[in-house]
Amino acid sequence: DSLGPTVCVGEILVEIVATTPGAGFLEAQPLVGPFASGAPAIFISQCGRLGGSAALVGCVGADDFGQLNLARLASDGVDTGTIRVDPDYPTGSAFVRYRPDGQRDFVFNLATSAAARFGWDDATDALLARAGHLHVMGTALAMASAWEVIDRALPLVKARGGSVSFDPNLRKELLHDPEILPRFSRMVAQCDLLLPSGDELRMAAGTDNDETALTTLFELGVAEIALKQGAAGATVCVAGSEPVHAPAFRVQELDPTGAGDCFGGAYVTCRRLGMEIAEALTYACAAGARNVTVRGPMEGAGTRAELDAFIAATERRK
Ligand code: ATP
Ligand code: MG
Repeated sequence: DSLGPTVCVGEILVEIVATTPGAGFLEAQPLVGPFASGAPAIFISQCGRLGGSAALVGCVGADDFGQLNLARLASDGVDTGTIRVDPDYPTGSAFVRYRPDGQRDFVFNLATSAAARFGWDDATDALLARAGHLHVMGTALAMASAWEVIDRALPLVKARGGSVSFDPNLRKELLHDPEILPRFSRMVAQCDLLLPSGDELRMAAGTDNDETALTTLFELGVAEIALKQGAAGATVCVAGSEPVHAPAFRVQELDPTGAGDCFGGAYVTCRRLGMEIAEALTYACAAGARNVTVRGPMEGAGTRAELDAFIAATERRK
């Protein structure tokens, strides 16, 4: 961490959530929100809350939704100096409704919102001159503005001796985009820490077998792979040593959104603060589990004290 802040890049938005399960938004219904959201924002919020030095490159509109996000990140201890406020476009938004089977319907306003209207500027330049870690969210690879920042930031962080992590949570359809697939592959090859969940491990390795996926990724130069396994917990794999597994905490899931992002923010921060894999993994699992017990994508992100209390009070699953 002495190398400088953890930097994340990408979309900032508000989320507005239907309070009843059902299909979509074709009739008037009760909603709750706005909540601060966006995968990169959730990740960096968790970093800040845990006391890690953290900054986000992104953009909000000059409206209440933007204010809400800026205030939230600032109160989490995140450096918001590289978050642009766009005078012309509204803050990004997502309306979300859960179906009875757990699937989700969305109405997004992202591509034509302020969320995508950032790029490399003087503030970004100054931040990356002192950054120690870059975290890339797969979701951000849908935005050309994020590519511009990542392409410049990544070699700068590496040249300073910093590290790079990648959460390959990219919608699968986007991998058919001839521009996005090579960028996705490049991110996999350049990261030190990969944080996949479900079939993202095989997707990242370009294979259909978990065993060969790990080998392939280690050969590409990925040093550490943290597999997110939902209610089954998480496992960290490092080439040449036994995997480290942590069972999940036993919680009542109220809102699954943001678990993976909080997990990642906590894992990266704890590792950067010098913790061993097993201890960082415990905090990461606690961060993910605590976040699903609260409605809102980042409302359950915990401070160090909150996570310590959660760990002490919560049983593990078998
Ligand atoms: P997201 O749904 O946000 O994309 P993800 O699929 O990337 O998340 P998950 O594996 O769902 O990641 O969640 C990350 C971590 O959070 C898990 O490894 C686990 O430790 C914890 N977690 C998530 N859901 C639960 C749950 N229902 N009960 C306990 N722990 C959970
Ligand atoms: Mg999940």
